[in-house]
Amino acid sequence: MNLNIEQIRADFPILQQQIYKRPLIYFDNAASTQKPRQVIDAIRHYYEHDNCNIHRGVHYLSVKATEAYEEARKEIRQFINAKSTHEIIFTKGATESLNLVASTFGKRYIQPGDEVITTIMEHHSNFVPWQQMCLERRALLRVAGINAKGELDMDELKGLISKKTKLIALTHVSNVLGTVNPVREIIALAHQHDIPVLLDGAQGVSHLSVDVQELDCDFYCFSGHKLYAPMGTGVLYGKEKYLEELPPYQLGGEMIKDVYLDHTTFNELPFKFEAGTPNVEGVAGLRAAVAYLQDLGMENIAAYEDHLLRYATEKLSAIEGVRFYGTARHKASLISFLIGDIHSYDAGMIIDKMGIAVRTGHHCAMPLIDFLKIPGTVRASFAFYNTTEEIDQLVSAILKAREMLT
Ligand code: PLP
Repeated sequence: MNLNIEQIRADFPILQQQIYKRPLIYFDNAASTQKPRQVIDAIRHYYEHDNCNIHRGVHYLSVKATEAYEEARKEIRQFINAKSTHEIIFTKGATESLNLVASTFGKRYIQPGDEVITTIMEHHSNFVPWQQMCLERRALLRVAGINAKGELDMDELKGLISKKTKLIALTHVSNVLGTVNPVREIIALAHQHDIPVLLDGAQGVSHLSVDVQELDCDFYCFSGHKLYAPMGTGVLYGKEKYLEELPPYQLGGEMIKDVYLDHTTFNELPFKFEAGTPNVEGVAGLRAAVAYLQDLGMENIAAYEDHLLRYATEKLSAIEGVRFYGTARHKASLISFLIGDIHSYDAGMIIDKMGIAVRTGHHCAMPLIDFLKIPGTVRASFAFYNTTEEIDQLVSAILKAREMLT
């Protein structure tokens, strides 16, 4: 193992605390990750040394803050290997990135009768924007299903592709099932039909090494706060040819070039999509988070998290009454489960009292939860600062919940 977990844990102040007189065990990383001291320090440094509104300022601080912001863009470009910094748009999160594309793509390319394909395993943030855009433009949203393991039904997806298909929008990794979708295969197939593909990378980018040029995806969206960076930060990657053609999303601020009484011209990429004062301190934190991850190495992170996932799967499988939701061959670092007929909230409350944070409920994926015909799941999602000893504690907490609730 190439990661020094003890040393890594020392970087995360929040993990040092006790709750209910027990050491905090944080298994809600798919909802949001904790922040290393390096990220917290970057935000502090920004406010103590650089704080100012960016772009168009001639004075010292404004130039410094602008440089830091644009340096961050270069580093994010490199992190996901985009071709150009023009293709990196800063947003406030995956949800905003996805809404941006759904709204502008709809206006530019979608006509009545056209179709968009998505999947049953999407988070609401990559489902509702497409659903609403299709309703507004009298287009049809087609939804590919899954098999019993929670893997995408590729035959069904292939069968949905037609001359009417204008876009395929799907998640890289499911936030409920943990399934890693065969996105390379889907992108290659879509491109044979000249159909662009958007990937919701909210759960992908923190666990897998992402190279957007190698994937050849047309759009890739993610949130900073699931990537050890501050809340209110996010990224939209889009191929330049699409970003050039799409209309602006919001109006005002740096996205403006010239304003006349009767019309306005818009700035070039990437500023065309960055209206208003951005989250500059958040982006400083995002830059520090990416540097931290690159220091650890995404391959090392993926290997260690895979070890945690296998360990947890084996240990929880041995508990009588535990049922998994999502047993795909390719999974990222989370497990969704139920214990007998115990409601996920009840189980979650007892597990919490043992000092362990897990998430319960529908995980913002109601179409999937309805499809599974369950009220929700308990979800334990792992990060590189978690340990097998913590998973042993989760096993004890599950046994306790089962004992108390049955
Ligand atoms: N997509 C997926 C797969 C997610 O898991 C989430 C959050 O849980 C989102 C999108 C939305 O992310 P955010 O709330 O950070 O915009």
